[in-house]
Amino acid sequence: MNFVLHGASVSSGITIGHAHLVSTALLEVGHYEIAEDSIEDEIARFNVAVGRVRDEFAAVEAHIPPGSPAEFGAMINVHRMILEDSTLSKVPPALVRERRCNAEWALVQQMERLVEQFESIDDPYLRERKADVEQVVERVLKALMGTDTPPAPQLAEEKNLIVVAHDLAPADMILFKRHHFGGFVTDVGGVTSHTAILARSLGIPALVGLHHGRNVIREGEQVIVDGVQGVLIVDPDPLVLREYQLRQSQLEIERQKLKRLRTTPAATLDGTPIELFANIELPQDIAQVLEAGAEGVGLFRTEFLFLNRKDLPGEEEQFEAYRDVAQSMGSRPVVLRTLDVGADKALHGDGHVMPNPAMGLRAIRYCLAEPQMFLTQLRAILRASTHGELRILLPMLVHPHEVDQALALLRQAKQQLDERGISYAGSIPIGGMIEIPAAALALPIFMRRLDFLSLGTNDLIQYTLAIDRADDAVAHLYDPLHPAVLQLVARTIQTASRAGTPVAVCGEMAGDLALTRLLLGFGLRNFSMHPTQLLAIKERVLKTDLAQTRTLAQRVLRSDDPGRIRDLIAKLNA
Ligand code: PEP
Ligand code: MG
Repeated sequence: MNFVLHGASVSSGITIGHAHLVSTALLEVGHYEIAEDSIEDEIARFNVAVGRVRDEFAAVEAHIPPGSPAEFGAMINVHRMILEDSTLSKVPPALVRERRCNAEWALVQQMERLVEQFESIDDPYLRERKADVEQVVERVLKALMGTDTPPAPQLAEEKNLIVVAHDLAPADMILFKRHHFGGFVTDVGGVTSHTAILARSLGIPALVGLHHGRNVIREGEQVIVDGVQGVLIVDPDPLVLREYQLRQSQLEIERQKLKRLRTTPAATLDGTPIELFANIELPQDIAQVLEAGAEGVGLFRTEFLFLNRKDLPGEEEQFEAYRDVAQSMGSRPVVLRTLDVGADKALHGDGHVMPNPAMGLRAIRYCLAEPQMFLTQLRAILRASTHGELRILLPMLVHPHEVDQALALLRQAKQQLDERGISYAGSIPIGGMIEIPAAALALPIFMRRLDFLSLGTNDLIQYTLAIDRADDAVAHLYDPLHPAVLQLVARTIQTASRAGTPVAVCGEMAGDLALTRLLLGFGLRNFSMHPTQLLAIKERVLKTDLAQTRTLAQRVLRSDDPGRIRDLIAKLNA
C-alpha cells in the first residue's frame, strides 16, 4: 500500500531503498505479512516457542544448586509467572490473527506496550520489573528464531537499506558509522539531538519525528527518504519512483559540481577570508574532513571515544586517537573538546542518577566531579599536542571558577607529565564553549580567562528556549530564529570580535545554508560544521556581498517579529 509519512529532515538528499527495522530494545525482529492460510501455523510456532521456554525454566528450577540464594528461585518464579500471564501468552497470538503479522513482531509489539505500562508505575521496585518482561521476551524470541522461521523477504545490499527505528541513542548511531546504510528514519527525536547530528555526519538522508513509522513499515518494504521535503514514501508507485530517481540523479550532479570548490579559498565577494572548519566525532571522520578541504577541525567531540564500551579509554588509547587526528591535519588547527558526557551521552554503568540530566552533571561539571578521569584525558591531549596544532575547548561553562579549576587541573596534568619526563607543546590555546545563556550574557569573565570562544548553538537554543533538543514533542518550538537566540548569538560574536577574542560557531547553525549570510552579517568569520555541509556553505560564502549582508542582519536584530525576521532572511538569501 502506498502512503506518505511526514517528519523533520535532519539530513538532506534523497535515497531510495528497502526498510530495515531496528529495535532499540536490542531485539531486532523482522515485520512481515503472513498469508491467510498460514496464520494457524504461525500461532502454533509461537506456542511451541513458549512451551520451549517453559521447559527451560523447569529445567533451571530443578537444578538450582543447594545453598543458592533464595532470590534465585524467586526470580525464576517471577519469570515463569510473566511467561504464563495472558498478556504475553495470549495477546501475541491474537495480534498475529488480527494483523496477519509474524509472531516475533506481535510479541515485541506487546512487550513495548507492557514496558510502557511499567514505566508509568510510581513504585520504583515494580517499575524495574520491566527488565524482567524484556528478559522473558528475549528468551521466547530466541526460541522462536530457533524454530522453522518462514523466510523473511530478501534484504537488499546495505547501501540500499533504510534504517527504521523508534528511537536511536547517540551510542547506537556511532555503531552505524561502520556500515553504509542508505538512510535513517526514527519516530522520535529532535533535529539537533546528538543522534540527528550523527546522522547528518554520515551524509545520508535522514528524518526524525515520524511518530508511527516503526509500527507501520514492514521489513524489506521499498521506501523513499526525501530529506529535502521531510517525507517518507512507503511502497511508492512506479510514477513516483521514476520522478524520485530523476531528482536523485540531479542532486548527485550538484554534489559532484561542488567538489570542484575543494581547494578554492573561502572568501566573500570583497575578498574577506572566512575560515571553514569541520566537526568530527571519531578519528576516522578525518578522511571526510580532508576530502571536504576543511581548514581545520573546529570541534572534535571526544566523548564518542567513551561510548559503547564497559571500560573507559585509558591515557594511551586516548593519546593515540588525538595524535592521529593531529597528525592527519598537519599544520591545520584541531580543536579538541574535553569530555561532554552526561545527558543523552551517558557512560556505561554511570552511577550518577539525575532527575534532569540535561541540567545535571554534564560536560565540564562531570569532569570536575571526576578529576582522575579528566586528568587522564588532559594528559593524553598534552602528549598529543607535540604532533600537531591542538587547541583545548571546555564545554558547558557557566561559572568562572569552572575555568579556573579546569586550568588548575591542566597545570597538574603538565606536572604529572614533567615527572614522567614526557614533553608537550609550549603553548596550547584554551577556549570555552558558549552554550548556556548565562555564559553569553557574562562574556567578559570568560574572555579574560580564555584564548578563544566557540558558540554551541544547539545547546544555547535548548537552554534559552527551555526546549529539550532530543524531545520531538517540543521539536516544533525549537527555533534558531527566535529573537532571544539571535540576540545572544549576535551579541557574543560582536563582543568577542571587538575585544579581539577569536570566536567560532560550531553548533548546527554553522552548517545551515539558510543562516550562513545572517551569521556573516553578525560578524562571524569562523564556521565549524559537518564536513558533508562544508562545500555548500563555501559556495554560499563565495557569492556573498558582505556589506549588504551586514545591513540586512542589523535589520533582523532590530526586529522582534518572527514573520518579519523570516522575510528578511529570505531577502538575505535571495
Ligand atoms: C552545541 O551545543 O551546539 C554543540 C556544538 O555541542 P553538542 O551538539 O555536542 O552539544
Ligand atoms: Mg553542546
